[in-house]
Amino acid sequence: MTAREFRRRGKEVVDWIADYYEKVESFPVMSRAKTGQIRASLPEHPPHRGETFGAMLRDVEKLILPGITHWQSPNFFGFFPSNTSFPSILGEMLSSGLGVQGMLWATSPACTELETLVLDWLVEMLDLPQKFLSTSKGGGVIQDTASNSSLCALLAARERATQYASNERGCNGKLVAYTSAQAHSSIEKGAKIAGIGRANLRLIGVDEKFAMRPEALAAQVERDVAAGLIPFFVCATVGTTSSNAMDPLRPIAKICAERRIWLHVDAAMSGTAALCQEFRWIHDALTAADSYCFNPHKWMFTNFDCDCFFVANRTELIQTMSVLPEYLRNKATESGAVLDYRDWHVQLGRRFRSLKLWFVIRHYGVEGLQHHIRRHVQLAQEFASWVQADKDFELAAPVPLNLVCFRHRGGDDINQQILDRLNQSGKMYLTHTRLNDKLVLRMSIGQTNTELHHVEQAWNHIRKAARQLNNS
Ligand code: PLP
Repeated sequence: MTAREFRRRGKEVVDWIADYYEKVESFPVMSRAKTGQIRASLPEHPPHRGETFGAMLRDVEKLILPGITHWQSPNFFGFFPSNTSFPSILGEMLSSGLGVQGMLWATSPACTELETLVLDWLVEMLDLPQKFLSTSKGGGVIQDTASNSSLCALLAARERATQYASNERGCNGKLVAYTSAQAHSSIEKGAKIAGIGRANLRLIGVDEKFAMRPEALAAQVERDVAAGLIPFFVCATVGTTSSNAMDPLRPIAKICAERRIWLHVDAAMSGTAALCQEFRWIHDALTAADSYCFNPHKWMFTNFDCDCFFVANRTELIQTMSVLPEYLRNKATESGAVLDYRDWHVQLGRRFRSLKLWFVIRHYGVEGLQHHIRRHVQLAQEFASWVQADKDFELAAPVPLNLVCFRHRGGDDINQQILDRLNQSGKMYLTHTRLNDKLVLRMSIGQTNTELHHVEQAWNHIRKAARQLNNS
């Protein structure tokens, strides 16, 4: 493709994306594709001869779009949001255009230095502990996902607990990690990958708000110590996936400090709320954490993937991850004056992700971001008040921020049928969870363009589905 054609086609693609956003509400939110339908609609073998770009774009429209669930529809209320924005998309395009591989400072100084700056900005914007600043002993790095950040935290904790011996000789089977029974499954996955073993991950019980019970954590730690095991890692969650529960960081941090256990805080979606002063209580006692992560790719208008991972002591992370083959040696690294982010995560290569985050922050400004976060929280609180006022529905968990867990009082069957009916209607998209062994519907509000009328409409659809099922 020549630069001339790229110029023309590039404009077509931007138009296509803009059109998509303008008409996204006209598509069924959940894809109606049947299993195997998309693959069956595509040629079984790769083309021998190159094809025209026009043909490809037509196929995206005709063959790929039917298999898309529209996460960027304002009527998407499933899972947690994975929202985006035009400035972010443009940043992603530039990153892809520059095609930079930022594994070392030397492989593109701007890629490293912009990332360091933006992560320092975030410390200020979210009022995170000063020790997470690059100008202190710690610092931040952009990872692909919260799953990988938690894995890195587990690995660094493992090495600190074994004086870097596990890196040399493998894990000893005595290390024990802790998280709540409501923590994200990535912690269990991380424990498997890091060689800790699922059997050495304790899932601590939760209270009536689905938050970790610190006294249960303390008791389990003591039992493990008495059995000759080594407690080394606790992951607390700020905003659990099922119900947005907030683990109490202060008492958990105290237990960790007493036993010198690494405290990692996973605030994948909810961390963004700390942009607003009134929601900063979610990070109470975060100053005691060894590491922390949150995902701008969930709620901060930055398209997937973009997770920000902060550590209090970067030497512990770098010592865990670093391997220096001859072919990566360079003067800048040897001078000790630069950060080489390849040593801050599992993979070597890295994309220029800070560009899109920088664009988002500059486009909205802190004030603009706060405005949208407050708006989403307010919409969720309003929705929760409608649920509470309705005789057929009830809240199934507290609503600290932008997720409403609720259910029809009529039992699991009717809730499942409401969910199926709504999702099949294409008018909105909801997902579910189980709390106290009951099926619960989750209304997660965070898509960039969701407004009050979308939430009102959703509530009308939910009540109508319930009425129809009651009458049938
Ligand atoms: N942690 C929490 C609390 C989450 O809610 C999620 C996803 O929803 C994750 C981790 C995993 O996120 P990622 O896809 O970035 O790994």
